[in-house]
Amino acid sequence: MVWYRRTFAAVVAVAGILALAIFLRLRQPAGAERPPYQEIPPLPTSPQQEEKEENKPKNLVFSAPERYQAVTVHGAELAGKEKVIALTFDDGPWPKTTAQVLDILKQHQVKATFFWIGQHLQNNPAIGRKVVADGHAIGNHTWHHRYHRVDAATAAREIDDTAALIFKVTGAKTFLFRPPGGNLRNGLAAYAKKKKHTIVMWSISSADTNRRASAQSIIHSVLRGAHRGGIVLMHDGGGNRSATVRALPHIIAGLKKKGYKFVTVPELLEMCDKELKSTAASQSVKPVTAQPAVE
Ligand SMILES: [Zn+2]
Repeated sequence: MVWYRRTFAAVVAVAGILALAIFLRLRQPAGAERPPYQEIPPLPTSPQQEEKEENKPKNLVFSAPERYQAVTVHGAELAGKEKVIALTFDDGPWPKTTAQVLDILKQHQVKATFFWIGQHLQNNPAIGRKVVADGHAIGNHTWHHRYHRVDAATAAREIDDTAALIFKVTGAKTFLFRPPGGNLRNGLAAYAKKKKHTIVMWSISSADTNRRASAQSIIHSVLRGAHRGGIVLMHDGGGNRSATVRALPHIIAGLKKKGYKFVTVPELLEMCDKELKSTAASQSVKPVTAQPAVE
């Protein structure tokens, strides 16, 4: 009878092992074969890390559609129903006032275009990075802001050195150029055109560099001159711009009340380009005011 007992013990043992195997199998959740690390989202970053991420140079390019390259634009004549306007700020980045302008723009969810002076960016790189991080467009406004005539080599240095610094500090490339003092004849705009930049002038001056300018006069100049597709000239740097800062919330509120939406210069030119393309057959839309090369 010994073999009976041995067989019985063996059967019990096999049954036990099978039961254990089934038990363990049932305890395994579905999909347990996949490594669990595939399911785990990345660890949340600390605010400091996020800040660093935000300040990392991005692959940004500020440019206009092809038809506006190597062309001078003063504003747009849009036939569409949308009322848009572009605010621009020159001569920064500048301590205090640029940050104040950025705060006001952020508060009102407005994007603008900033034309930088190379030497000012060199002195205030962190402010420059903040402008780009906030989503505004950037243009080149030369290194020294010269009004007088410059030779070709100087013009190249003024524009190329500024472009190189903008890229080094922010990672952005810009093909938008605004000549200092709006001077189209001293050799700077001619060089920028040769480099296929868009020469961005303005159609509405805030006259905020006028020595007698007050917040009230700045508000009045902009609201009186406002028009669909307009480009507004203001300054966030290069001197005491406290009147501009005081005027800005009222300018934004006044323009919003008139039904305007705010766009950057590249966005404005993109809209013009689209409108021209969609109505190309009828030729009924006037393009952005353009001038041929001056020199
Ligand atoms: Zn300027």
